[in-house]
Order: sequence, then structure tokens, then C-alpha cells
Amino acid sequence: MKDIDVLIIGAGPAGVAAGIGARREGAEHVVILERDWDAGGILQQCIHPGFGLRTFREELTGPEYMHRFIKQAHEAGVEFRQNTMVFEMDENPDGSMGVWTMNKERGIERLEPKAIVLAMGCRERPLGAIRIPGSRPAGIYTAGTAQRFVNMEGHMPGKKAVILGSGDIGLIMARRMIWEGAEVEGVYEVMSWPGGLRRNIAQCLDDYGIPFHLETTVTKIHGKDRLEGVTVAKIDPATRAPIAGTERFVECDTLLLAIGLIPENELSRMAGVEIHPVTGGPVVNDLLQTSKAPVFAAGNVVIVYDLVDNVSDEGLIAGTNAAKFAAGKLNADMRRIPVKGGDNVRLFSPQYVTGERDVTIFMRITHPIEGACKVVANTDTGVKLYMQRLRYARPGEMNEVRLKAEQVKELGSDVNSIIIDIQPA
Ligand SMILES: Cc1cc2nc3c(=O)[nH]c(=O)nc-3n(C[C@H](O)[C@H](O)[C@H](O)COP(=O)(O)OP(=O)(O)OC[C@H]3O[C@@H](n4cnc5c(N)ncnc54)[C@H](O)[C@@H]3O)c2cc1C
Repeated sequence: MKDIDVLIIGAGPAGVAAGIGARREGAEHVVILERDWDAGGILQQCIHPGFGLRTFREELTGPEYMHRFIKQAHEAGVEFRQNTMVFEMDENPDGSMGVWTMNKERGIERLEPKAIVLAMGCRERPLGAIRIPGSRPAGIYTAGTAQRFVNMEGHMPGKKAVILGSGDIGLIMARRMIWEGAEVEGVYEVMSWPGGLRRNIAQCLDDYGIPFHLETTVTKIHGKDRLEGVTVAKIDPATRAPIAGTERFVECDTLLLAIGLIPENELSRMAGVEIHPVTGGPVVNDLLQTSKAPVFAAGNVVIVYDLVDNVSDEGLIAGTNAAKFAAGKLNADMRRIPVKGGDNVRLFSPQYVTGERDVTIFMRITHPIEGACKVVANTDTGVKLYMQRLRYARPGEMNEVRLKAEQVKELGSDVNSIIIDIQPA
């Protein structure tokens, strides 16, 4: 099928917003493909409040937040195709892109749209990623799987849980397990600082008296058929190795893992889209265009965001630019100026700026700065572009650099890069 202007893969917050953006920009035929039975992405299982404070100035649950966007998308004329899995994406000899899809009613189809938006989100790192010794009994889940069981399918994973990792989903699930009558023995984090937002530490752990152990990890799993307990130990922050003599047995029947999220990019890799080695997402410019000109990307498939509001904003931008590309109205120099991270920057996106629009560069740092500091963006030739003072900066919380299109456009050809960083003030 070649009549599709913009094809979006994934009907989560990024994909649905991309659909709205594409239709608003004038794309005639906009289709969102979703492998699940309904649109909404991961937000379908996030039934706690706290979404949409910025976008709607209201405190909504995940499904309520998504309902508003899905309604807007339907009203805008976006076509949704659920139960449709995209299993392959490739490039035609003329540079256009095609995808192979599978759906029970429609069978296997090849679609060749004018532009594509990748909005496949991310998945959780599983137990295999951290290789804990011991047996593999029942009772070990990623926090997101447990969230789906409890919030959507009505099953409790267990009665006494240990949570490994302090990513936001783990913190939210610690509170959820308490609400459902389970006991949470503690949350264990190998790093010296929390992986999730401070807000979630306060609201999900402190408010419920759940102990939080930094520089501590699970070193062994016990149990045959069902989990019977785990050994936890303090670690040496310099070597990340367990400290002998600090081991402690913790009885539990459930271990929930919140040890990181990985952007879901098997399709992108298959199609030869350049993937950033640190973010794990496509390399994009400020128009959210990837290294393959007809392919755009937004949301957690690019970089794991803290706030869904940012995901929706980025989805709108990707959809708008995909529609411009489909209409032959996008001729920007994709990689006009590369962005580089300073010493304390772990990852950031986008990696290039064109100066075609005002841009927010999202970044995470490697080490916390617990005191006055500043976010800066300067060119390699010393032009100061941005400075914002902060009271602190932490790896678990995303920081932003905002650049005006005019600032970037005015830069001369002697500028080779823009360097972003967070430094003590
Ligand atoms: C397990 C989990 C739990 C979370 N819980 C919270 C929370 O409680 N609170 C919070 O603030 N944030 C939470 N988040 C973060 C939140 O999910 C993101 O902010 C937001 O959902 C990202 O939106 P997205 O559209 O990029 O991705 P997603 O919401 O993940 O949507 C991606 C969509 O793409 C579809 N898809 C993927 N591959 C294909 C394919 N090949 N073919 C067709 N469809 C495909 C997926 O089925 C999915 O519907 C959670 C994230 C995860 C992974």
C-alpha cells in the first residue's frame, strides 16, 4: 500500500501525539499501527494519578491522560490499526522505506508510506542482564510486568517483596504492593544515589516507611519452585563488588526488578537507522529526523524520559516534521551542528541541531552535584548560548537545555559543535 502519508509505529503517548501532529500539518492519510489490542502504550497500566500536570494542569491517571489524546487523534482523522505487529522495516533502492506488518484479519501486508515515525517505546532490563547467581524459581518479575498483573489483570505477584533497583516503576510498584496488602521488605540500589525521581522516593517509599538501601545489591537468589529469599550485600562504590561479611539473608516470595529501560529498536537497527551507543535510541536532529531521511522518531524509543508530557511534546514535533517530509516541504541540513556532552553528561538527545526550530535538548548526568550548579551550552568557539542555575543536579532527573532557532541560525561556519554540560556554580 502506497497511499499512506505518515505511518506511525506504536500507539503510546509518542505515537498518538505524532498522529495528531501529522494531521494538523495537513497529512491526508495518517495511520498508527499498534501490536496491542488497544491504543495507550504503557500508560494503560499506570492507573495511579500524577499525569498531565503540565499539559492539562490537572492530575490525571495514565489511562485518563491517554484517553484525551486518543480522542483528539480520532477527531483529527487519524486511523488506528490495533493488533498489528510491525515485524520488519527496510529501505527501497530509491531511499524510501517500507514495513512488513501482521494482523489476524489483514494477514501479512507491506506498507510503503511517504514518512515513518518510530514510537515503539522501551522495555525493561530483565534478570538475565545482571546475572545474579542462584536458582531461578517463580516469583521474579520486572516491575512493569508486576504492574500489568496487578493493575490490568487482577493478579498479585506475591505477599512479601524485595525490590531491586530504584527506577521509577520499582518505586511506584513498592507503593502499589503495600496498597494491595503485601509487605515490601525494602528497595535495594547498587548506586550511591536513587535511579528514580526524588518525588517518587518521598511519595512511594518515605510515606509508607519502606526502607531504602543505597550501595546495596542482591547477590544470590534462593528457592526451588517458588522464591524463598535473597541474599543482599553492601557493595564497594569504587569497584561495585560486594563487600565480604556484609551479606544478609532476606526472606521474600517476590523479587521485582527496576534495573533500567532499553529503547525498543530492533526494527530501527534492521532498517539501518543509526543507533546511538549510549542512549540506545536512534540518533536524531532537532526535527526528530533519524539518519534515514523518511524516518522520524519520538518518545522512549529515542531516550527514556521522566515525564510523559515531554514524550507527547516530542511526538507532536516528530509527527509534524514527518508530515512536512511527506509533502516534500522539509529540506533541512539534517546534521548542521553536532551537540556534544561535557565531562558530567551521560546521555542526551537530540544529537544534532539544524536551527529550523526552537529546541529542548534533554540530558542526564553521570554524577550528582548536591549544591549550586549551572546548566550551560557553549559553542566550541566559545559563544555562550544558554545558562540556567540549579540548586542541585541528579542522575535520576532529566535536565534541559533550551536553544532558540535564531541563536543556532546565527552561528557561523567556524562552529563545529555545541557543548552542553552541568557544572558546579
Ligand atoms: C513498564 C513501564 C511502566 C511505566 N510506568 C510508569 C509510571 O507508572 N509512571 C510514569 O510516569 N511513567 C511510567 N513509565 C514511563 C512511560 O511509559 C513513558 O513516559 C511513556 O509511556 C512513553 O511513551 P512512548 O509512546 O514512547 O512508549 P510506550 O508507552 O511504551 O508505547 C509504545 C507502543 O508501541 C507499541 N509497539 C512497540 N513495538 C511495536 C511494533 N513492532 N509494532 C506495533 N506496535 C509496537 C507498544 O505495544 C506500545 O503500545 C513506564 C514505562 C514502562 C516501560
